Amino acid sequence: MDAHRPAEAPAAPQLRDRSDIDDRFKWNLTHIFPDWSAWQGAYDELETQIGAYAALQGTLAEGPDRLLAAMKLSDDIGQLTYKVWYFASLKYDEDQRDNQINARRQQVQILFAKASQASAWFNPELLEVPLPTVQAWMAANADLAVYRFALEDLYRQQEHVLDDKGEHLLSLSSRFSSSPYDAYAALSTADIRHPSLKLSAGPEVTLTYGQYRAILSTNRNQRDREAAFTAYHRLFDTSVNTYASLYNGVLQRDWFHAQARGYRTTLDAALHGNNIPPAVVENLIDTTKAGTEPLRRYHRLRKRVLGLETYHTYDTAIPLVDFDRKYPYDDVLDWLPASVAPLGRDYQRQLREVLFGDWIDVYENPGKRSGAYSAPVYGVHPYMLLNYNDTLDAVFTLAHEMGHSMHTLLSNAHQPFVYSAYTIFVAEVPSTLSEALFLEHMLEQATDDRERIVLLQHAIDGIVGTFYTQVLFADYELQAHRLVEEGRPVTAEALGAIYFNLMQAYHGDALDYDDLARLTWARIPHFYSTPYYVYQYATCFASSAQLMRQLTTGSATDRAAAIDRYLTLLKAGGSDHPMPLLERAGVDLSKPETVRAVVNQLDSLVTKLEQAIQTLEPPSAVRERKKQ
Ligand SMILES: [Zn+2]
Repeated sequence: MDAHRPAEAPAAPQLRDRSDIDDRFKWNLTHIFPDWSAWQGAYDELETQIGAYAALQGTLAEGPDRLLAAMKLSDDIGQLTYKVWYFASLKYDEDQRDNQINARRQQVQILFAKASQASAWFNPELLEVPLPTVQAWMAANADLAVYRFALEDLYRQQEHVLDDKGEHLLSLSSRFSSSPYDAYAALSTADIRHPSLKLSAGPEVTLTYGQYRAILSTNRNQRDREAAFTAYHRLFDTSVNTYASLYNGVLQRDWFHAQARGYRTTLDAALHGNNIPPAVVENLIDTTKAGTEPLRRYHRLRKRVLGLETYHTYDTAIPLVDFDRKYPYDDVLDWLPASVAPLGRDYQRQLREVLFGDWIDVYENPGKRSGAYSAPVYGVHPYMLLNYNDTLDAVFTLAHEMGHSMHTLLSNAHQPFVYSAYTIFVAEVPSTLSEALFLEHMLEQATDDRERIVLLQHAIDGIVGTFYTQVLFADYELQAHRLVEEGRPVTAEALGAIYFNLMQAYHGDALDYDDLARLTWARIPHFYSTPYYVYQYATCFASSAQLMRQLTTGSATDRAAAIDRYLTLLKAGGSDHPMPLLERAGVDLSKPETVRAVVNQLDSLVTKLEQAIQTLEPPSAVRERKKQ
């Protein structure tokens, strides 16, 4: 769940064979199964259970015992599925060159397809039983009452389910509804011809997306960055009408489905699953747009520190100072527990268990999966995959994934299986909060002004990237969908105008605008693959900022109450819809003040950055290079 993180990680310092890495830096998967034969035994059992579930078809109406039996068997299958899947999948990620393990992993995927066929009867059959009947059953049967939220939610969703004929028609449309994205992916990846680019120094480079990002974040020559920006965006400019046409396909599909299912708007349709009121997205957009002053202040500061006469989108990623401290993993093992002190001793103790339990696969090795994740292996414990390379990014990635792991640990310990998983709407709250606590700790520890600047810039860039940019994206998606809802034409020009107006609304005169930036919308994969998704990064960020304020300010009693509410949120897993869960933790996303917590957080970080920069001696320390 880290789509906001750059896909390309910096290269590891030295690549060792897996067998040369000390066991304490590798996860121990025997906590799941002792060996492959135990795994095979569980696999066979799972297959038997799936067959037994299919055989329950036609029994639900007979009464509460039958329904309970189906729910329990479904839980058993789910729990075993976690272990069977993750044992194969985590093994595979240790070395993806292993074909035998890959075959086993695919074997599980085939079984999943069987399982979903074997359970397809459940929802329609249940919904034939009137809800009051099921409610009466639950009132009389405590074991069945455990499933109240899950069952009632199925009835809630029923409101927009069509009759058999309608559902059949809609299911036929699923075959082509992914075509706009597939064509976008082909056009922007498979069929794209990356240009080569001659920079001011070094050999000619092929301008892939990874290379483009690398130039923007490391090349201190503004002309090189400009050349990379121009060449990269021309790639999209040459096919911009095709991109607009594909995106129109996405918008028309969403509007078709919303209307077919009786939703008022595409936004209503997208939010209904998690029962989120559309006012949450509107509040997010309006309050953020009204809170762009700290963002502009940051850009003006960057322009001055970097010594630039003009300041463009391609100047926003370059570091303010050069600083290459290494952060050995063993040091972080002390810092991370210290950073969560505001969450109390129990939390600290459990976090140490995660760190020292052989649950984490720390270093890169040949064939290992790239990136980082936390895997919620229900019935065992969370595992974490890292590619730790001693950089500051790697440290914060560990803090981030640790937030997910603690969430899993607490949710699994306190919820029945059916509610142990949590939605993305809540998932990124503990991960970002964990990063924020870690930043506070690192800032307190930092003795070097340059390090303070690097830390502050890391935190600010996080807010810009996961909050401001995602809200701007959400605003764009909303306005673009409204074009089709209002029957207006969708052209490259119309989409470019929406995007450009938003850029100006956010950055005002803090940015110098390039015409090619208009077509940024054309290259964002999320717009084609998962519309109305990215706003959740921003709502999580706002929730986390609000919680951070409650956890670290006010009287000791207030803070203790805030810790209690926060831990209750983590323990609650997926036992309710996200809005009530967050409300109980003290976060109301329909209120402007929640969103303003991020604006205030950014404002205070920019002020700290200004102070840190003032203490550095200009201009030798802050390495600036005017036009070359
Ligand atoms: Zn995450």
